[in-house]
Amino acid sequence: MLLGCTLMFACSHAGPAGSAEDSGAVAASIARGDTTDAEFEGTDDRGVPHYALTRAFSAEDSALLLHAYGIENPHHLYVSDSTEEGILKYDTEVKRCRTCYVNSYRIGYVSVRLPGESWEQAERRVRASKPSAFAPQTGDAGSTSLADLDPEARPIFERMLGDARAAGFHLTVKTTYRSPRREAALMARGGGHTHTLTSNHSYGRAVDVEVDTPKGKRSRRVSDWIAFRRWVAKYETGTGISFKLLGTPERTWDWGHVELPTDQVGFGTIDAAVGRARACLAAGSTTPCDFRPNLPARLLP
Ligand SMILES: [Zn+2]
Repeated sequence: MLLGCTLMFACSHAGPAGSAEDSGAVAASIARGDTTDAEFEGTDDRGVPHYALTRAFSAEDSALLLHAYGIENPHHLYVSDSTEEGILKYDTEVKRCRTCYVNSYRIGYVSVRLPGESWEQAERRVRASKPSAFAPQTGDAGSTSLADLDPEARPIFERMLGDARAAGFHLTVKTTYRSPRREAALMARGGGHTHTLTSNHSYGRAVDVEVDTPKGKRSRRVSDWIAFRRWVAKYETGTGISFKLLGTPERTWDWGHVELPTDQVGFGTIDAAVGRARACLAAGSTTPCDFRPNLPARLLP
């Protein structure tokens, strides 16, 4: 089957038809089950997240989440099941259907959000900016080099890509590390290039690949992309962590994105975010609110 802008693929810009960029997204597997927020995990059968609409937030918790993590409305929090570990995310607008893409932010991830700024304010500022406002600074352009990955993740990506090629897939790495400013430039450009300002690319733990034909051209056969996505979703890293896709192998808006999350970055529960907010906002605290990337030194500010 050749891919056009079909209903099934929700006119995605990414993958078989276009370039691969990043997002929060429709989800697949199972979230971490050991939390007090289990009812706010995953998605319903329409692909809509189980937002924390019914959860009670004390005034103190709401204030902590606002000041540390830019959350104006904590009832828009949810634990995404797009990774089996689950990751706490925030949508500035409530998602209403599987392909109604909204902007999603991973809580505690580095981004261009300013101290004290909410996600709503950050989003308005970025959208009102020209992409050039987020022009690359030293070491901060998008990279295609696996050497710019988190040194812990790099050998796992290298092994997987080698095994994929040995299994007969033709792949080109299009993006590895992407800075928060680059992420913001994509949102400022508009056109659905991204639905987020937070990404595992900014942690060197995501790669965008292109699935090619044997002649090295981007494959327009969706079956080629699905075959690779099914393969990588089942791939055994031997490390206890596994690669994750956005969406399911068969359905996504971001076909080439493969990430390797870590439990060292992001939250699995709302309570964990409140706890770190309390710690990082305390007088004299040395705990940063956002998780610091583990990147090669040349990429760090
Ligand atoms: Zn990506």
